[in-house]
Amino acid sequence: MSGRPASHASRPCVLVLGGGFGGIGAAQKLRKSDVDVVLVDKHDYHTFQPLLYQVATGLLELPAVGHPVRDLFHKQDNIRVHQDQVTAIDLDAREVRFGELEPVGYDYLVLALGAEVNFFGVEGAAEHAFPLYTLPDAVRLKDHVLERWEAADRKPELIEDGALNTVVVGGGPTGVETAGAMAELYSGVFRKDYPDVSPEQARLVLVEASPEIFSMFKPNLREYAKDALIERGVEVITGDVVQSITSERVTLKSGTVLPAHTLVWGAGLQGNALVRSLGVELERGNRLGVDSELRLPSHPEVFVIGDIAAITDAKTEQVLPQLGSVALQSGAHAGETIARLVAGKEPEPFKYKDKGTMAMIGRGAAVVQMLGGKTMKGKKAQAAWGTVHLALLPTNEDRAKAVVDWAGATLTHQRTGRIRVET
Ligand SMILES: Cc1cc2nc3c(=O)[nH]c(=O)nc-3n(C[C@H](O)[C@H](O)[C@H](O)COP(=O)(O)OP(=O)(O)OC[C@H]3O[C@@H](n4cnc5c(N)ncnc54)[C@H](O)[C@@H]3O)c2cc1C
Repeated sequence: MSGRPASHASRPCVLVLGGGFGGIGAAQKLRKSDVDVVLVDKHDYHTFQPLLYQVATGLLELPAVGHPVRDLFHKQDNIRVHQDQVTAIDLDAREVRFGELEPVGYDYLVLALGAEVNFFGVEGAAEHAFPLYTLPDAVRLKDHVLERWEAADRKPELIEDGALNTVVVGGGPTGVETAGAMAELYSGVFRKDYPDVSPEQARLVLVEASPEIFSMFKPNLREYAKDALIERGVEVITGDVVQSITSERVTLKSGTVLPAHTLVWGAGLQGNALVRSLGVELERGNRLGVDSELRLPSHPEVFVIGDIAAITDAKTEQVLPQLGSVALQSGAHAGETIARLVAGKEPEPFKYKDKGTMAMIGRGAAVVQMLGGKTMKGKKAQAAWGTVHLALLPTNEDRAKAVVDWAGATLTHQRTGRIRVET
């Protein structure tokens, strides 16, 4: 027998799977609706993915990037939050199964389970690469880098073997932001932390398969980003791909072998693995195609939002990128649409408001490309990046924390998160 919220068994039940930008956005829009909402996430925190690289490089501490999900709903009476793993979704029976919870039936389902890393079958990647999509990923990378620097400090011969070298795969925002932040970590605070290890001995190599990094940006911004990386000591290799990885070596398709004990994977995403069991056709990257109201065409009571969805922009007729703003807006739209349906109103089509594409490269170096084609770079772009990302953070408290940490890092070059805590 499937569980339903006991409070108002007669009200429609909206089951939200995933507490990322999409799931939170949807659930919050149902606050005043006459429904019972159940939100389930495998973590008890909401992850702010855009700043994971700042946790990995010690710039931000965990609470700035992971926020308790329950905390976001203190003022919402019609929701119950659970931490559990979704294990199966039966679209025909309108029922979801979990690791521990009793199965939950629903009237409306919001699928917001996000994306996961895609290693594209590269040999050794699953075992040895460091992806950067979850909070545990960021902590694992930070701990590994700190451990390698400590090891090299104790045994300098490890430097020759590549203990301090890092290969970052992927010339998109994740790869570029991580490479830039690592370069600043090494040349800034590590120079003082490890007086006997020269940061110049640590190679940072960014590998991108396309002829240029930042293919989503205009050529002037691509060149600016490449120069900014090189200025910070990052070697940029384009037009080559990683073929295989071991714990100490990275082999490229061209035959180049890079001695590196760390490989950061920022090269690819695919829809959450659960989509493969739904029995519906998948779009590119294992994403679920949706109609103009963000519903599964074969099951209109199911709304699919964020990274797991292939949402076609009504204006450009292109599939929207996997971005926080797309997830947040599509989530909010799904919540509003369910509220409309429950109130007997007609749904309205989703219209994405593009706030521009942007990325950070390092202190004082960022790029922004607006919808109309206007571009910004440098400090101005950094300010725009900061404003947009602060707006995406879930609470004012998180915004204040991030501002204090960023200001501190800018003024003092400090990285207070650079400790390892063994449990
Ligand atoms: C490193 C990085 C940098 C980024 N930078 C930017 C940026 O600068 N700007 C920008 O706009 N976007 C950025 N993005 C993209 C943005 O973070 C995503 O588009 C956004 O998080 C997608 O939101 P979502 O709600 O669809 O999925 P997610 O935020 O991934 O949320 C999915 C939720 O589902 C939960 N979940 C997954 N599987 C299960 C399961 N089986 N059972 C229970 N729960 C489950 C997860 O725990 C998670 O909380 C970045 C992404 C990454 C990885």
